[in-house]
Amino acid sequence: MFGQMMSQPLLISSLIDHAARYHAGTEVVSVETTGGITRSTWGGIAANARRLASALEALGLQRSDRCATIAWNNRRHLEIYFGVSGAGLVCHTINPRLFPEQLVYIITHAEDRVLFFDRTFLPLVKSLRDKLPCVEHFVLLGPPEQEAATEFPGLVFYDDLVASGDDGYVWPVFDENLASSLCYTSGTTGNPKGVLYSHRSTMLHAFGANLPDTIGLRARDTVLPVVPMFHVNAWGSPYAAAMVGARVVLPGPDLDGDSLIALVDGEHVTVALGVPTIWQGLIAAARRHGSHMESLARTIIGGSACPPVMIETFRAEFGVEVIHAWGMTEMSPLGSANHLLAKHLAMPPEMQAERRLSQGRPPFGVEFRITGDAGEVLPDDGTTQGDLEVRGLWVLDSYFRQDAGSALRDGWFATGDVATLDGDGFMTIRDRSKDIIKSGGEWISSVELENIAVAHPGLADAAVVGVRHPKWDERPLLVAVAAEGAGPTSEEVIAFFDGKIASWQKPDAVVFVEALPRNATGKVLKNRLREEYADILAGPA
Ligand code: AMP
Repeated sequence: MFGQMMSQPLLISSLIDHAARYHAGTEVVSVETTGGITRSTWGGIAANARRLASALEALGLQRSDRCATIAWNNRRHLEIYFGVSGAGLVCHTINPRLFPEQLVYIITHAEDRVLFFDRTFLPLVKSLRDKLPCVEHFVLLGPPEQEAATEFPGLVFYDDLVASGDDGYVWPVFDENLASSLCYTSGTTGNPKGVLYSHRSTMLHAFGANLPDTIGLRARDTVLPVVPMFHVNAWGSPYAAAMVGARVVLPGPDLDGDSLIALVDGEHVTVALGVPTIWQGLIAAARRHGSHMESLARTIIGGSACPPVMIETFRAEFGVEVIHAWGMTEMSPLGSANHLLAKHLAMPPEMQAERRLSQGRPPFGVEFRITGDAGEVLPDDGTTQGDLEVRGLWVLDSYFRQDAGSALRDGWFATGDVATLDGDGFMTIRDRSKDIIKSGGEWISSVELENIAVAHPGLADAAVVGVRHPKWDERPLLVAVAAEGAGPTSEEVIAFFDGKIASWQKPDAVVFVEALPRNATGKVLKNRLREEYADILAGPA
């Protein structure tokens, strides 16, 4: 017997309809690529999204065709998110920091028919054009411009395209399992792999993201997604914001601390989302400008481990709550968020602070387990570590156009992270499985060492990798970037680990570099460091 309730498919168009109907006047603030701030509203975004959808149909695009974007976080990009997916097309966000060969690879692999791009990327797109025969329409995100039109024959201007559309367009209704957007993971090795989200998974993820123990946006919030819209849909924040009608501030191309602090204070941002390296710049700029980040209530920090010192600085110096979250492209990306339980609130502050270091608990919709080398399920005792596996309502089943079929084993997706789990579901990432250091049969967490290193006042950035050692197989090497005006010695840095970690886990050596090599999503390229310094400790034991 079926239930007798209405059955409406979960479609992204319903989010923008809701925002337009009940929050039409709520602002969407956008830093433009060409400079300056423009102010739109959810009502304006929705009208342009409908115009865009109808214009794309008029161009002959068909259900599930891919439309790519190479763009910053801005108003037009937001309209594309809703217009493209709402029309039943697939919004394929591309990371501009990928190497040109990788860009060609993924655009060709996805067979994108339209490529929307910001002014910044005109030279890049121009240089790739001949290698992209699948792209029929190149659309510059902006008003018509003579210089660009001459430089790039056949170029379409977004504002013209939208103006040609119909704002009375009615969103099509279709199966909620159809694809809505596509994002390629930029791993540290190999070709990028496509993760094809569905309307259903995106909608359920937005509900999950808005639970109070995850990100929990509200209509009264002003949200600043610093995490790029080309990185896992800005962690789903555009959808989550539309769902509740929150005010949105889109930061455009400049993500340096000075620009961000001006936005946080000037636009009274209450919630901001981004990776730890971005917040380092923000904190430094806030100190320089004497900003107290008065309006900011919480930051959602993820993408890589949030150093404890950052959580504490936000709390103690600026009164900002840090929500440490973990996820991945294959999970849309939300996997877990750290909110303490009632029983923790009675604990002394040091114990609470320790709890906050974990990557947190999964919300309803995500399940975790850890497994050992033979695939056996390991206990959730808070100390046993194993390979973290996940399953849930917004987790990938198989990669886009990969012959291998399902990426799951026993219905679970192996994350490649090594973690511990406790009985309440608190998960602590120990490392990426390939980054963990095995010294004389014992495991050392590179994340743990990095967290200690970045708390050293003389260091701005740090990565720890395992390198060959004649006696112990592998030993930790700290690759560090000195803070501006500081020049700590290796001995001072190594001594800083005393009392914070077992002495056999301390790094054997420190190498100072100007900057750490990072991939397109800002993750440290540890394989490159491992290769470069492979033999640094290989002398006689
Ligand atoms: P991506 O798919 O590019 O978002 O990368 C996902 C990977 O980033 C995860 O598998 C983790 O290794 C890492 N990651 C994301 N968030 C965190 C976090 N809060 N702490 C530690 N690692 C993280």
